[in-house]
Amino acid sequence: MIKLMFQKEIETMPREQIEAIQLERLKETVKYCYDNVPLYHKRLTECGVGDGSKIKTLSDIEYIPFTTKDDFRDNYPFGLMAAPMKDIVRIHASSGTTGKPTVGVYTKEDIKIWSDLVARVAVAGGVTSEDIIQISFGYGLFTGALGLHYGMENIGATVIPASSGNTEKQLMMMRDYGVTGLVATPSYALYLSEAVKEAGYPLSDYKLRLGILGSEPCTPAMRSQIEANFNIRVSDNYGMTELGGPGVSGDCEARNGMHFAEDHFLPEIIDTDTGKRLGEGEVGELVITTLTRRGMPVLRYRTKDITKITYEPCSCGRTHARMSKTMGRTDDMLIIKGVNVFPTQIENILINIKDIAPHYMLIITRENYRDSLEIKVELENVELLENYQRLSDLKKHIEAKMQSILGLRTKVTLVAPKTIERFQGKAKRIVDLRNQ
Ligand code: ADP
Ligand code: ZN
Repeated sequence: MIKLMFQKEIETMPREQIEAIQLERLKETVKYCYDNVPLYHKRLTECGVGDGSKIKTLSDIEYIPFTTKDDFRDNYPFGLMAAPMKDIVRIHASSGTTGKPTVGVYTKEDIKIWSDLVARVAVAGGVTSEDIIQISFGYGLFTGALGLHYGMENIGATVIPASSGNTEKQLMMMRDYGVTGLVATPSYALYLSEAVKEAGYPLSDYKLRLGILGSEPCTPAMRSQIEANFNIRVSDNYGMTELGGPGVSGDCEARNGMHFAEDHFLPEIIDTDTGKRLGEGEVGELVITTLTRRGMPVLRYRTKDITKITYEPCSCGRTHARMSKTMGRTDDMLIIKGVNVFPTQIENILINIKDIAPHYMLIITRENYRDSLEIKVELENVELLENYQRLSDLKKHIEAKMQSILGLRTKVTLVAPKTIERFQGKAKRIVDLRNQ
């Protein structure tokens, strides 16, 4: 079953052909970095790869040193830029909650390719030129909003640059303009989908049929909840500022892993501790080399995202490799009483329990050298607050689940509906008070 694709010939290309293109583009990229970015020139010289003319196979990439987020910070803002400023047409940056923001710059050609990559992801998620797309990502330096904006226009869809905020207005636009597709973070989409229930209009007043969500993890359970509330189909897509933004990979209709755009990105999985390359299906840190970016090419970028890759053919007909949903990040992994915990694990447990809403906060404290994790969870229904027995049973039930799945004793606090903060961008659900 081959459905519509944005660049079908490329997206269904035989593997040997993909790899041949990757090898050629890898060599070009290495040479381009060697010639134009002092940091890469130095590193490529030191590791012996030089201008890349000695690269014979794709696995020779292992001789090239990794690039990290610190390299972006240390060379802030334009140290990793490879093209002259006169050729740069756009600057984006990450929010930079910890330290200086990460900057990305784009040539005209980079913007063109980016909009093709996002268009691939959007079409794979079901968008057509008939769709009216509401972009409820915050506009600004963030790559998400303009990235999706250009990609959707590239398909010929109608774009509404709604930006985030003002829930009532978001829902009004959705109804009045006959919006068929929503672009947002999963947490904001979930929030809007709940607000629909209270807005006083029947679901039939909305024409929404698709959610093209991304920029933070979305567990299958959370996806189902958004789909049920809105009566839509949701697809996930992945990217980051360092690699140009969204469009790195995205779900197809099979939703069994997100297809990379392998003609533009070369993905690898490594062991986070040793840096060794891991094989197909092995879980580790995703590392990506850009193959066509000219404003700011990146060699072996350590994404800190934990996932695995498969090269198996997909039922959708696309031949490009797929990554699993991320299992967390090497740096948001919590270590509580020595137990490694990813917030997504906790979310997965919560979302399958009745009577609670999928809104939570994790509060970690340390007293007398002992860590403790408090999970604040919202009740779905205010009535439950009046029934002490049921409340206490529910609390015990959640704590028992956490204990058996995470192997960790936690304290669950049930709070009234709508009392936990809602997020319009990426959710920030962890408060770690241990080092204060
Ligand atoms: P963006 O602002 O485009 O999300 P950032 O550079 O701020 O880019 O953040 C990138 C990080 O966001 C990724 O490394 C990853 O951890 C997370 N992320 C982005 N998209 C997804 C996704 N679809 N699923 C899981 N995590 C994602
Ligand atoms: Zn597929």
